[in-house]
Amino acid sequence: MEPDLEHLFTRAAAEGARHRMTVADRPVHPYPDPAALAQAFGGPLQEGPTDPAEVVDELVAAATPGLVGTVGPRYFGFVIGGASPAATAADLLASGWDQCAYSEALSPAAAAAERAAAAWLTRLLGLPTTASVGFVTGAQAANTVGLAVGRQRVLADVGWDVARDGLFGAPPVAIVAGDERHATIDRAARLLGFGTASIVPVATGAQGAVDVPRLAEALEALGGRPTIVCLQAGNVNTGACDDLLAAIPLAREHGAWVHVDGAFGLWAAASPRTAHLVDGLELADSWGVDAHKWLNVPYDCGLAICADAGLHASTMSYAAAYLTGSGAVSDFVLGDLTPESSRRARGFAVWAALRELGSAGVADLVDRSCALAQRMAQRLTAGGATIHNDVVLNQVLVSIGDPARTDAIIERVQRQGVCWVGGTTWRGLRLIRVSVSNSTTTEADIDLSADAILAAAAE
Ligand SMILES: *Cc1c(COP(=O)(O)O)cnc(C)c1O
Repeated sequence: MEPDLEHLFTRAAAEGARHRMTVADRPVHPYPDPAALAQAFGGPLQEGPTDPAEVVDELVAAATPGLVGTVGPRYFGFVIGGASPAATAADLLASGWDQCAYSEALSPAAAAAERAAAAWLTRLLGLPTTASVGFVTGAQAANTVGLAVGRQRVLADVGWDVARDGLFGAPPVAIVAGDERHATIDRAARLLGFGTASIVPVATGAQGAVDVPRLAEALEALGGRPTIVCLQAGNVNTGACDDLLAAIPLAREHGAWVHVDGAFGLWAAASPRTAHLVDGLELADSWGVDAHKWLNVPYDCGLAICADAGLHASTMSYAAAYLTGSGAVSDFVLGDLTPESSRRARGFAVWAALRELGSAGVADLVDRSCALAQRMAQRLTAGGATIHNDVVLNQVLVSIGDPARTDAIIERVQRQGVCWVGGTTWRGLRLIRVSVSNSTTTEADIDLSADAILAAAAE
């Protein structure tokens, strides 16, 4: 019997909607019994088929006890974002339509949506309008692409074709990055064959931003070695942004490729209130940014952006692997910008999120998150907590009493379920880390959560 697709998909969409409409009323994390959850999904695979409607029923029943309210308004762990209504609906359509976004030939619609969203994005973020945007899985992939394109360029500059000859025997490349860089930079260095030993760490200041005089010293000491400088907009602990306006021209003087990891912090550029934090951003060569964090697009979606579109395409595409970084490609398909060839049409959700918000709405999302982070800091301070960072963006680092108690407090907060916060180690101290990046979070959510954190600390 043919499945009733409309009923099946409607049922799935309704379950997703139900989860979200009730997410604020449930404990943020259910802490299910892992054995029960494994059992609900487990057992031997039966031999015969199962009716699709029954499969969906089974999945809903098995998964529901283990669903976390990451999409809800009081999840402040990691930098998790949310998923806006239109972006989520667009993502449902992307599944229903099942388009492969490799090229115009595969899906004219997916390609047109990505190209339109890409143009909006570069304008919103103040990047060169000619920059190329690859729709990748997240900032890990985006950083890897940025470093791959940089590798191509800096080695071509010294007459080495890494696409053809690889790294064996190549002149050594230095990756200069702050000691507060995100771990995805190290993984990219491993995956790209540089190895983590090629990373030259630069000391950072009190807020975790690169110390520019130290950067100058590090570049000087490299004596003209091919270099990729990896800067950061949005430290995962403090939210601090490197001084891009000072650091990028300095790196360029040394002939370096400059990549900016702005997984969430790049969105500061979208608001007049926070844009000064990332002044000089547009001077870089490549940028990595997530859509699934602060833009509130469903997982998984990041953007690998490159000022030199031709070099981006010639480095990443398969057809042009013989090109040596001449930037000769003027016409590329979307699959030339990403490590994947066949992939989900991620552009529909990004397009929808931007359409839903408008440019003022994106700025407002950034501003509101920052204001709510400030509010959290103030409420906690009023309750006797200590804030360990300048709350310039959406990140707050907190201790209440002796930082040695931090993990116990976090555990109580998480088990209580009013909100969810994680922990971090910052400058040797165990701290509570609060990240505000969900568009549905309200002042009341912040107040409720601050009270819950203070109450847990008082227990
Ligand atoms: C989250 C984050 C990453 C990694 O992003 P994914 O989307 O998880 O791949 C990289 N850098 C920074 C600064 C981040 O916050």
